[in-house]
Amino acid sequence: MTEVAVENVDILIVGAGPVGLTLHKALAAGGRKSMIIDRRPSGAAQDDPRALALSHGARQLLEQIDSWPTRAATPIETIHISQKEGFGRTLIEREDYHLPALGYVVRYRDLAAALTRNLATDALLAETGLIESRPDADGVTVTLQHAGARRTLRTRLLVHAEGTPADDPAVTVSDYAQHAVICEVTPVFANGAGHNKRAWERFTPDGPLALLPLGDEFSIVFTLPPAKADAVMALDDDAFIGALQAQFGGRMSFAKPGKRSRFPLFLRLRDTLVSGNEVWIGNTAQTLHPVSGQGFNLGIRDAWQLAEILLADGISEASLARYAGSRLLDRQGSAFFTDKIVRAFSNDFGPLKLARGLGLLALDLCPPARHFVAKRMIWGARAWP
Ligand SMILES: Cc1cc2nc3c(=O)[nH]c(=O)nc-3n(C[C@H](O)[C@H](O)[C@H](O)COP(=O)(O)OP(=O)(O)OC[C@H]3O[C@@H](n4cnc5c(N)ncnc54)[C@H](O)[C@@H]3O)c2cc1C
Repeated sequence: MTEVAVENVDILIVGAGPVGLTLHKALAAGGRKSMIIDRRPSGAAQDDPRALALSHGARQLLEQIDSWPTRAATPIETIHISQKEGFGRTLIEREDYHLPALGYVVRYRDLAAALTRNLATDALLAETGLIESRPDADGVTVTLQHAGARRTLRTRLLVHAEGTPADDPAVTVSDYAQHAVICEVTPVFANGAGHNKRAWERFTPDGPLALLPLGDEFSIVFTLPPAKADAVMALDDDAFIGALQAQFGGRMSFAKPGKRSRFPLFLRLRDTLVSGNEVWIGNTAQTLHPVSGQGFNLGIRDAWQLAEILLADGISEASLARYAGSRLLDRQGSAFFTDKIVRAFSNDFGPLKLARGLGLLALDLCPPARHFVAKRMIWGARAWP
C-alpha cells in the first residue's frame, strides 16, 4: 500500500447520496468550494431501487440548485389514508393548499442524475472510502482509500453524509421489526382509468402499505414483519400480486410487478449533530421509517441549513453550534411524528383499531386537524409548532 502526501481541502463531504450532493451544490451556488467522496463507483446510484416521495418544499430547494428532475417527477394530487379491516379514512387534497401538487414521486436514480448534472469534474471522487478521521483543534486529518492507495487529507470541516449508520454507541437504535419490500406495479382499474395522481397509505397490522404514483405505475412500499417479508420475497409474480391484493383490498387490481428489493427498518438517531469540526447530516444523522416519506425531505433541509450557515458565517464553533440548534425541532418533530404513526397503526389491538378509525374520521371531518398533518408533510420544520 503506498501513502501519498497530505492535501488540504476546505470542506470535505463524505457520501455522494442526495443529501451530500445537495450540500455540495448549495455551497457551490454560494461560491464556496467543497470536495465530495463516495466509496461507490460513479453511476452506482443508477442501481438504487427506491422511489422517493418529495415534498413541495424539497422541490423548491432543488430548483434553486438547478437539480429538479422535472420530467422524471410524478405529482401527487390526493392522498388517501385508511386502515385494513377497520373503519375511517381521510383524503388530503391539493386544492386545499393552493399548491401545484402535495408532493412528487421521483426514482432515487433520477434524483441522483439531476444532482450530479453540471458537477465540476474534480468535485467528486468516486470509489473513495473514508477509513479514519482524527479531529484536532483546527480541523480534521482524514485517511481515505482510493484506487488501492491511502490518501491523507487535512480539512477544516468534515461533513458526514454516509447514509444509514452502522452500530455505533453515539447512535440510538430502535428496531421496528418490519422490513419494506419495494417494487413497481401497474394498477388496473375496472373502468380503465389510471392512478389519477393519487397516493394511497393503508395501515395494516403487519405495517403500512404505501402506493405512490410514478409515471403510469405505482411504486409500492409493502411493510411486513421479517419472516413474512422473507415469504413475500420468495413468491412468484402471480402469488406476489395476490399477497399485495390481500393487503390492499379490492379498490383496484395490480399487474406486472417489477423486481423486488427489501430494506430492514429502524429508527437510528445520532445523539449529537456536531463534534469539533465534524458534522452529521441526512440519514447518517437520523434514519426514519419510510411511512410518511420524511427521510430525504428532512435530509435536504439539513444540507440546506448547513450551507446557509456556512455561507453566511463561515466555519467556527459558534456557527456549527448554531447549525445543531437550528435542526433540533425539525429532526425531533419528524422522528416523533413518524415513530408514533408506525407504532400506533402497526397492530391489531381492538381498542387501538377503534381509536385509529375515530382518528381518521376526525381528520376527514375536521379540516384544521387534517391541515395540521398535511402541512407537516409539505413543509416540515416551517410548519412546526
Ligand atoms: C424503502 C424506502 C423508502 C423511502 N421512501 C422515502 C420517501 O418516500 N421520501 C423520502 O424523503 N425519503 C424516503 N426514504 C429515505 C431516503 O431514501 C433517505 O433519507 C435518503 O436516501 C438519504 O440520503 P443520504 O444522502 O443521507 O444517504 P444515502 O442515500 O444512503 O447515500 C449515502 C452515500 O454515502 C456513501 N458512503 C457510505 N459510507 C461511505 C464511506 N465510508 N466513504 C465514502 N462514501 C460512503 C454511499 O455509497 C452512498 O452513496 C426511503 C427509504 C427507504 C429504505
